[in-house]
Amino acid sequence: MCGIVGYIGDKQAYPILINGLKRLEYRGYDSAGISILNKTTLKVFKKKGKVSDLDDYASKQDTKGTIGIGHTRWATHGEPNDINAHPHISMNGHFILIHNGIIENYSRLKEKLTDRGYKFVSETDTEVLANLIEYIYLKGKVTAEIAVRLALSKVVGAYGLAIICKGEPDKLIAARKGSPLVIGVGEGEYYIASDATPIVEHTKSVIYLNDDDVAILSRDGLNLKTIKNDSLTPKIQKVDLDIGEIEKNGFDHFMMKEIFEQPRSIFDTFRGRVSLEKMEIHLGGLYSVLPKLVEAKRIIIIGCGTSWHAGLVGEYLIEELARIPVEVEYASEFRYRNPIIYPDDIIIAISQSGETADTLAAIKLAKQAGATVLGICNVVGSSIPRETHAGVYTHAGPEIGVASTKAFTAQVTVLAMMAIALGHERKVLDKKDYEELIQELYAIPDKIEKILKSNNSFLKVSKKYKDATNFLYLGRGSLFPVALEGALKLKEISYIHAEGYPAAEMKHGPIALIDEKMPVVVIATKDKSYEKIVSNIQEVKARKGIVIAIVSEGDTIIKKLADHVLEIPETRDELAALLAVIPLQILSYHIAVLRNCNVDQPRNLAKSVTVE
Ligand code: GLU
Repeated sequence: MCGIVGYIGDKQAYPILINGLKRLEYRGYDSAGISILNKTTLKVFKKKGKVSDLDDYASKQDTKGTIGIGHTRWATHGEPNDINAHPHISMNGHFILIHNGIIENYSRLKEKLTDRGYKFVSETDTEVLANLIEYIYLKGKVTAEIAVRLALSKVVGAYGLAIICKGEPDKLIAARKGSPLVIGVGEGEYYIASDATPIVEHTKSVIYLNDDDVAILSRDGLNLKTIKNDSLTPKIQKVDLDIGEIEKNGFDHFMMKEIFEQPRSIFDTFRGRVSLEKMEIHLGGLYSVLPKLVEAKRIIIIGCGTSWHAGLVGEYLIEELARIPVEVEYASEFRYRNPIIYPDDIIIAISQSGETADTLAAIKLAKQAGATVLGICNVVGSSIPRETHAGVYTHAGPEIGVASTKAFTAQVTVLAMMAIALGHERKVLDKKDYEELIQELYAIPDKIEKILKSNNSFLKVSKKYKDATNFLYLGRGSLFPVALEGALKLKEISYIHAEGYPAAEMKHGPIALIDEKMPVVVIATKDKSYEKIVSNIQEVKARKGIVIAIVSEGDTIIKKLADHVLEIPETRDELAALLAVIPLQILSYHIAVLRNCNVDQPRNLAKSVTVE
């Protein structure tokens, strides 16, 4: 949530910062700002709205300078407007900073600062921090670095920060707790960013900051220490991210590009892990915990949003194929409800960004209780992989569209590999099933390719129902979470109210909603509950509802009943979620575009939810 960029070097900072903000805009997009220091002159440009609005405004002005910071905001404290936009300047103009996160004790700090004569212009928690640093700096007559460290020791909450002190104009200070921050290392120059995407076009050498790290950057070098002033040795790593991966490549939106990337991203997720030749699955990242996993009495999967849906598919897969009991919890509920965690529990935390604040907090809780915690994440080097005992990266590549698509299918792919491998290790799966599942997993990318070719028929259906005000999504077994995911996609990007239900639950309530205006998307592929779902479709039709059915290729029975059928290739029931979700993603995409919604940056949302 919220994007941070910073630069210090001998190049002009403005183009680097504005391009960086454009790359990070998916993280937050209600307002944006840039500040540039030119010798001792500080310039600040802030605008409500998109980064392009900021650029229109700032590029007409003098933006000269080789040190600067930029921010794209996702408001937590105070509405999105020019004043609340970052950067925030301290009252006497000594410090200017950008912040990602929440200062939880801001009101107490604000009161104290007000008593000491400080006045505030914005409603943000961030301005309180700017003033606290300045107060300590002036009162204690200390250096900027000491003022920052002392101020941060008084802060409760989460922050990723980039700070400039006017009195020490050849420095940038970065600090992190809870919100991600990466430093790009160039020749006599440094970059700061919330993630590596704005950095890779300049340098592939990066340092991921850990919680409580403070980095002092100057053109001569970098000094890394803890907030308590203990020196640290920076660990420079190479990022494996190609610039093409973070551009639209001819698609109108990142979301559609990412939907169409799924044959590749799923393949990349199992490549090197599933071998057709040896007929085996090898998850290197889980090697150290494999004996524990095989013996596990219970697995708890935690996640938020789409990752939680992937977890529900995982529950079905692991219980079905490996016969280990699984519970799936919202990370936010898990962490606050005093859960019962046994030391022999296995916790699987799922998060695209690897930075989801609620999931991170739940991981810490599970670790304290002595459980073994595994991560399934997409962003290499993010916090969750560093906090967990072991894990598996999804390798879906950068996901920029705020509504998750390819990350979901990559997460389900990892869970499927885990379930199949565990089923084999625990001797639940016989050789025939094990090998058939491996072959079928390999066939998934081609089958998705085939579904993507029907894009035009999905568009036709979307045109018919783009003005609907409600949608219902129904599915059974592992396709129930897919129904939830389909409903979530539609809500997120088209703002149409939608709900997902297990198909059999419809008659216990939601059936009351059905009338001739209600489109009901039913996932009705040929599996063991096919007959039952045909009955559910009959029930909808008997009440004049509109049925859009996702069916297996060649289905003739549902074709006669439904208003529309969208075909997907047949696969084993255990893997059907990977195919059935594709038409739902595309439907919501087209509907949102037809309604003129901002598909990649839907209102009120942000990628990478780093606030609790
Ligand atoms: N809490 C800060 C604000 O509301 C920062 C939000 C963000 O991370 O964008 O301004």
